[in-house]
Amino acid sequence: MGRSDSHPTRLAGTAIHGGLGIGRVLHHQPRIVIRRVVAEDVGEERIRLDRALERMHSSIDRLLSTDALSEVGEHREVLETYVLLARDKGWINRMREAIDSGLTAEAAIQKVRDDTRARMASITDAYLRERLADLEDIALRLLQTLASDGENAGTEAYAPEGDWVLVARSMGPAELLDYDPSRLKGLALEEGSATAHVAIVARALDIPVIGRVAGLLGEAEPGDTMIVDADHGQVLLRPRSDALAQFAAAQGARAETRARYDAIRDLPAETLDGVRVSLNLNAGLLVDMSQLERTGADGIGLYRTEIPFLVRREYPDVDAQTQLYARILESAGGRPVTFRTLDAGGDKRLPSFAHDIEDNPALGWRALRIGLDHPSLLRQQLRALFRASAGLTLRVMFPMVATVDEFREARQMVELERRRAEANGAILPATVEVGAMIEVPSILWDLDRLAAEADFLSVGSNDLFQFLYAADRDSPRLARRYDPLTSPFLTVLKQIATTGTRHGCRVTLCGELAGRPVEALILVALGYRNLSMNAASIGVIKETLRSRQISNLDKFIEFLIEKNAADIRNRVTTFLRDHP
Ligand code: PEP
Ligand code: MG
Repeated sequence: MGRSDSHPTRLAGTAIHGGLGIGRVLHHQPRIVIRRVVAEDVGEERIRLDRALERMHSSIDRLLSTDALSEVGEHREVLETYVLLARDKGWINRMREAIDSGLTAEAAIQKVRDDTRARMASITDAYLRERLADLEDIALRLLQTLASDGENAGTEAYAPEGDWVLVARSMGPAELLDYDPSRLKGLALEEGSATAHVAIVARALDIPVIGRVAGLLGEAEPGDTMIVDADHGQVLLRPRSDALAQFAAAQGARAETRARYDAIRDLPAETLDGVRVSLNLNAGLLVDMSQLERTGADGIGLYRTEIPFLVRREYPDVDAQTQLYARILESAGGRPVTFRTLDAGGDKRLPSFAHDIEDNPALGWRALRIGLDHPSLLRQQLRALFRASAGLTLRVMFPMVATVDEFREARQMVELERRRAEANGAILPATVEVGAMIEVPSILWDLDRLAAEADFLSVGSNDLFQFLYAADRDSPRLARRYDPLTSPFLTVLKQIATTGTRHGCRVTLCGELAGRPVEALILVALGYRNLSMNAASIGVIKETLRSRQISNLDKFIEFLIEKNAADIRNRVTTFLRDHP
């Protein structure tokens, strides 16, 4: 199969889980052809449906016990909800009713699926859309079970030889487990975001994933060769021999680079002139915690706590949160973890929460604003963090702090939770450190007061840059318009570092900036000694820092900022080349 005339194509998308993979295109959804729609014997169709349901349920149970998945993590939760959905009485009854109206089992499944699709077509709620994907997944699985059972339906499944990359519009979480993980080299989706259920499972399996690839289904034909280059947010279809050679070289280079990074894993991130920098990880799933060991990072500089809230219909209660945070701390093995309280709202709408429909969600009712308006929610989260950190260090920070008063109010809740734990005779954390994220520009004009009150500041450079330049961080059209390496932005970053130092308040930076080599060097030159980034960046940043001196770079950066120099990026790159 595949287009023999080659016709190479590159499609851009959004990286969901990094990595590089190659294989033959396998369309995830084989089309099911139903031959008979009207039942000859209603009783018989009912029996067929029940038999298929039973077989499907046990096959799902078997799938979930696969060795490739760890026993703990949010992917478990996603999969367990899926199991419940597959046993949903309402759904099963609707199919039975459709059979009673005279349809075959296959036609009944199809009808109920179409009805559900139609009912949910206009839904924009992210969680419900995920559920819809799960439901589609289950209906398809049931159809396939029936198809393998008789002659009324057949699949047009096609499984190429060798390694596969899987292509789908969207996908339910359990379906991924149908494929042999040793042959699955990548996943590309037309839809799909980092919090899609399938993405959570793919991260647990460590498969490169790329989402939002427009035009993918139309372009990728079964059997085509495809490269999933999640590191660069692209897929290459039907690559020509030169691209294949490049891929092979990239994979070789990747292995070499990885070996180099592994070799410095246990060495400090220290520049040649002795400036020591703490490198930390950004995490959001329990499975991410294993990266601490692999990368040798010093700790978790940003734990985004929202994912468990995003995958659940119900708001996780204090016990559920406590268990999760305790597991995170346990897997950190004594290394510090900075928990960020719920950063919901914006593009992260919680299923368990009545978010308003807003014209400007990025500027709307979100993050700490929700926590301050609903103190019980924030306090429950803090309570769980206190319980999980008994006898340990608790580091907690608040997202989107816009005023010092907001920080005070939030900090007061920490104090209330401390008193409550004390009154209950609970073991308290050995230390509690409370920080603020610097990502809303207004706070820049009140940094002195904030730094005097906070235990640490963490620059969320993604949002800070977006709000300073009024440029949507997710807009592909704006992606290259503004460079963060400009005098205004560097001035701001320097001001934050200097103010923190003046007050003895630790300053860290946990946006994407920290994970890019030139930017990281500049940050260190500006005074940052603590950076937090994605796991994939730790090696390259450590290697870069270990091969450089900072002493002359900082003066040069200072000079560029003072001169309000244009083209800072090029000038710094040249400087680095001339001062190897
Ligand atoms: C940021 O804004 O830079 C940040 C680290 O937080 P998030 O990317 O989760 O908004
Ligand atoms: Mg942010």
